Amino acid sequence: MDTLHDSLTINIHGEQAEISPALIEKYNQPGPRYTSYPTAPEWNDNFGQTEFVQAIEAANANGAPLSLYFHLPFCQSLCLFCGCNTVITKKREVTVPYLEHLKKEIALVSAKVDSSRLVKQLHWGGGTPTYLTPEEIRDLFACIREHFTLAPDAEIGIEVDPRATTEEHCRTLAELGFNRISMGIQDFNPLVQKTINRVQPYETTKALFDYCRELGFESINVDLIYGLPHQTLHSFSETVDKIIAMNPDRIAVFSYAHVPWLKKQQGSFAKHLPHGLEKFRIFHHAIEKLTDAGYRYIGMDHFAKPDDELCRAQDERTLHRNFQGYTTKAGCDLLGMGVSSISGLEDVYAQNYRDLPSYYAALNEGRWATMRGMQVTAEDKLRRAVINRLLCHCVVIKAEIEQAFDINFDEHFAAELTRLQELERDQLVRLSADRIEVAVLGRIFIRNVAMVFDAYLQQKSERQKVFSKTL
Ligand code: SF4
Repeated sequence: MDTLHDSLTINIHGEQAEISPALIEKYNQPGPRYTSYPTAPEWNDNFGQTEFVQAIEAANANGAPLSLYFHLPFCQSLCLFCGCNTVITKKREVTVPYLEHLKKEIALVSAKVDSSRLVKQLHWGGGTPTYLTPEEIRDLFACIREHFTLAPDAEIGIEVDPRATTEEHCRTLAELGFNRISMGIQDFNPLVQKTINRVQPYETTKALFDYCRELGFESINVDLIYGLPHQTLHSFSETVDKIIAMNPDRIAVFSYAHVPWLKKQQGSFAKHLPHGLEKFRIFHHAIEKLTDAGYRYIGMDHFAKPDDELCRAQDERTLHRNFQGYTTKAGCDLLGMGVSSISGLEDVYAQNYRDLPSYYAALNEGRWATMRGMQVTAEDKLRRAVINRLLCHCVVIKAEIEQAFDINFDEHFAAELTRLQELERDQLVRLSADRIEVAVLGRIFIRNVAMVFDAYLQQKSERQKVFSKTL
């Protein structure tokens, strides 16, 4: 039997490598998840409504399709691991003023968006979107439909917490045209659930999952988290077995992000967390089980069935990554509405106020709720393209970047290519004259590979205050 001091053999889709405790120690450092580049800590308060409106108006000329995100922040209780922007309350009436303000925002934003721009992707996240009653869901959905033009084949998704979702909620979502359900599960183990303050019996989740299948949702995805307190390889393996038996279309296995300096409640269970190789072994075992069960490891934390469009998009190198993770909807401008929500256009990022009083005050004064953002430079776009290709396609073909950005890749990225040599020696990447390929270990440490191209990551000490570890 191997021990925590032994290396592990990792095998992903036929490619094999050894991963040692020393390698984990070396690369398991704080770093971004690259849902955007430049990442959120680089955005600034000088960017506000004026800049954001100008960017939307300029983007209308290109007519790019839209991806809309709506943030519904309320939850009944706090899951202690959670890093999302939430409002914890049992006062159900809080939804009334929130929806009023969200509708004001929808009216403000949609007035600046050319109505010919089709919405190809619509997503409700949180918080707990099903904190809303079925009537409120219908009402909000009608408002969105009134102000934006949904493409007939739009991907319409929602995050669902089985503890707060009734069969009536599910029927309502199906009737409205939601076709993707993303179910928060995290872990089925009772001790883990109790420690993270998220008691969610397997039977409840399974019953809701099966009901959603009966209703015919096109895709049902589940979210798990590895690295939670009291989790062991064995206990998480049992969770993964139950998930495989449920047969979801996509599975996200997120790494628990321990950032107690930002989320104080995480300190309560710190001494029960698995660390380093112990944490990695939990993930490694999940990768083995899921790939053996026929799921493809798309990258970072995502798995999908081989016939899923994520796999097709990866094969065709059209896969894209945004704030919701991996997506097939490349080329969409993302407009986020609701408290703390994030927008990402070709040329800018923008984020709304993160607290309800500021969000409400702005909208009551007829202002946009934009709190901060950033104008993306030509250099940022170039680096974003390289990072996206690494994360989504596991290969960067230099000629494609040279053609798109009119540069000489080897000259422009001479320093980065030198730094990559160390990652090549550690078997994270393969470097050749025409391309950079991500090797199997690089898929595990993909954030570290991407970090090489991040011009903003200067000092390790600064990173440590902001980001979680890469594993
Ligand atoms: S229900 Fe979801 S968003 Fe709310 S606290 Fe729990 S994990 Fe966070």
